[in-house]
Order: sequence, then C-alpha cells, then structure tokens
Amino acid sequence: MSPLYWEVYWTVALFLLGACVGSFLNVCIYRLPAGLSIVWPPSHCPKCQKRIAAYDNLPILSWFILRGRCRQCGQKFSIEYAAVEFFTAALFAGFYWALMIAQVRGPELAHWGVYAVYMALAAALLVSSVIDFKTKEIYTVVTNGGMIVAVAACAIFPDLMSRSFGPHWFHQDRLDAVVLSLLGLAVGGGIIWITRILGRLAFRREAMGFGDVLLMGLIGAVLGWEGALLVFFIAPFFGLVYGLWRLLRHQDNEVPYGPFLSLAAGAVCLAQTTIVGWFAPGLRGFWEVVFR
Ligand SMILES: [Zn+2]
Repeated sequence: MSPLYWEVYWTVALFLLGACVGSFLNVCIYRLPAGLSIVWPPSHCPKCQKRIAAYDNLPILSWFILRGRCRQCGQKFSIEYAAVEFFTAALFAGFYWALMIAQVRGPELAHWGVYAVYMALAAALLVSSVIDFKTKEIYTVVTNGGMIVAVAACAIFPDLMSRSFGPHWFHQDRLDAVVLSLLGLAVGGGIIWITRILGRLAFRREAMGFGDVLLMGLIGAVLGWEGALLVFFIAPFFGLVYGLWRLLRHQDNEVPYGPFLSLAAGAVCLAQTTIVGWFAPGLRGFWEVVFR
C-alpha cells in the first residue's frame, strides 16, 4: 500500500482518538472544579440526572444531532463541549502532521512515545486553561500528576529530551534525559516563582498564582529548560493582546495567566518539532561550544 494510504489512515484514526480524549477532558473540566470524581458516575444530565446513553454521547456529533439539548428534559448544553472535543481531535491529527513535516516517518515506538507524551501535555494544558478561564484556578492534581508522568516518561523515552524530531534524531541517555527534565521543571517553575515574588514586591498584589508556577514546572519538564525560557518570554505577548481586549470591553484587567502559558507552550512545542528539527545539529553544536 502506498505511504499516503497510511498517512490518511493515521490522520483519521488519531482525529477520532482525539475526539474521545476530548470527551474525557470535558468530564475533567466540568467535574474537577465541582469536586466530583472524574471516573464515577457515568455521564448524566445535570438537570434531570438521567444517564446519557452511549449513542447520545458521541464526541462532537451528538451535540449537533441533539442540537445542544438533553434528549430527556431539553436542558441546554454549552457548545463548549463540542468545541473542546473538536479542538482535541484537531490537535491529535495536527501534531501527527507536525511530526510528518519534521520527517519523522513510520510508527516507530520511540516516535509514538514522544507523540503520546506531547499529547498528554496538550491535554493537561487544555484542561488547566479552560478551568483557569472559568474559575481563575489551576488544579494541582493535573499539574503535579503531569510532572510525575513527564519525568517518568523521560526515563522510558529519553529521546523526549533530545527535542529534535527531524532528520537528525539524536539519541539521549536515560539518566541525562531525567536530569534534563528535572532541570526544565526547576527552570520553568523557578522563573515564574521569581516573577511572582518580584511582582508582589513591585505592585503589592498577586500578579501570578502558585498554580502558574506549577503549570510552568510541568511545561519545563516536557519541553526542557530552553523551551521553558522561550515560553516565559512568548506568553506575555498572547496575554497582552487578550488583556487589552478585556480592558476595552469590560474595564477590568484581571487576566488568568495559565491559558497564555499554555498557548506559548503549544507554539514552542510546534516550532521545536518542525523548525528546530532541521537546525538542531547546529544548535547542539552551539550549546557544546558554549558549555563545554
Ligand atoms: Zn436532562
């Protein structure tokens, strides 16, 4: 079979997988702030408490088939559910194509390990961002759980820390990868922590919550310390645009920061995967000259 056949196959399969994962993320987004279990009970209507049947619980599709209403009582469901599912599905298919563009060919185990960890990071950031938008809180169960998974994943798939998925994939030692991941965690969390302390001294009010420190720790544990620094410097640009828009519309400038750290992490992740993959040998040479 032609290679294109497989690319179409994986795109569709990963889109469907992403839609199902997105459906689970909706459960997390809805239940974590409410203090409910994310595994029990099964999906039910918040108004009439009727359990939602499997055929009414299809990701993305069901919302449109039922026109955003409960089949039993007509309670309206937000389009946010379908949007989160579609966005997750698009991420799953899109990142597969990012790896393709970076010339990572074929479903090799190491590549799929990197893919899985990046998608897990995307899921954690998406859940944290939506909850942060709604409640201005970041849930430590997501960030701390994510950090443990990230460091452990680096021991299993050390190539995560090579951060070059292009034609020049260099293999990383396991112990090195774990140390690099921990370093990324410390640099990412540390830089926000310092900003938080300085912000409190300068403005005498809370500029960033401790949740942002943990979220950046998670980002650093996956993207490494260079990635964490890039995210730190890119995120304010995303935040500024949104902050100005809010200031004009609502005369208030209280902005949750988690979503912008996440957005910047997505941009850095994509750039590292696609663009940097091509130049990585040069960059690595540069670091070796600087640090050795
Ligand atoms: Zn209902």
